[in-house]
Amino acid sequence: MPHDFPLPYGIRYSRRATRLRLIVKASGVELVVPSALGEERALEFLQRHRAWAERKMVELQGRLPTHAGLPQRLETGATLPFQGREVPLVVQGARDRRARVEFDGRFLITVPVTDPAQTEWRVRMALFGWVKVWLAGEAAQLAAQHAGKFGLQPREIRVKRMRSRWGSCGPGNDVNLNWLLAFTPPGVLEYVMVHELCHIRHRDHSARFWDLVARHLPGYLEQRQWLQRHGAELLRRLA
Ligand SMILES: [Zn+2]
Repeated sequence: MPHDFPLPYGIRYSRRATRLRLIVKASGVELVVPSALGEERALEFLQRHRAWAERKMVELQGRLPTHAGLPQRLETGATLPFQGREVPLVVQGARDRRARVEFDGRFLITVPVTDPAQTEWRVRMALFGWVKVWLAGEAAQLAAQHAGKFGLQPREIRVKRMRSRWGSCGPGNDVNLNWLLAFTPPGVLEYVMVHELCHIRHRDHSARFWDLVARHLPGYLEQRQWLQRHGAELLRRLA
């Protein structure tokens, strides 16, 4: 396994956790961090257990159908399909301890200068952190726009890394969204948000469910088809 293998991971801060914990799935790694602990310590821990986590992930992926090709490298010169439009990515190193993401029509991602083998991984993590905040804001606006119409109020909206789904709606009406919805046309994000909100009323994909989706978004089929046509490619590219 090459050392710069991009390890997809997410960090979850937990008030109840008493120690750092790594949960490895085929789609990536989740690091559970006690709230009191700093990011630096958490990243050190992840770095220390990285080889083990990668081995475990590859083992789990062996049991899944494989995706063709590898994710694109996140480095200067690459582009990211933010809101469906390719925007340039610029990566620079700095002496700061924390990574920084700025967006002004391009992504400027500043990461600490450390081991170059860690750069790609830090960029990926910084991008995910930024997208998480941005997407949660967009999703909250969309929810406010659509929720009132038929009383479909989500309890919480979370942005996550998900390998096989664009969104989900839990039994307590918590809506989870795939972070990659930042990289689809805006209408697709709106469709997925509406889709999950409609599951608050109908837990299935019955005709009544699709009727409700259509009442919110009469043109939803076009967005659904976008996901069917381009979704797998996006997952492969930025997984
Ligand atoms: Zn559904």
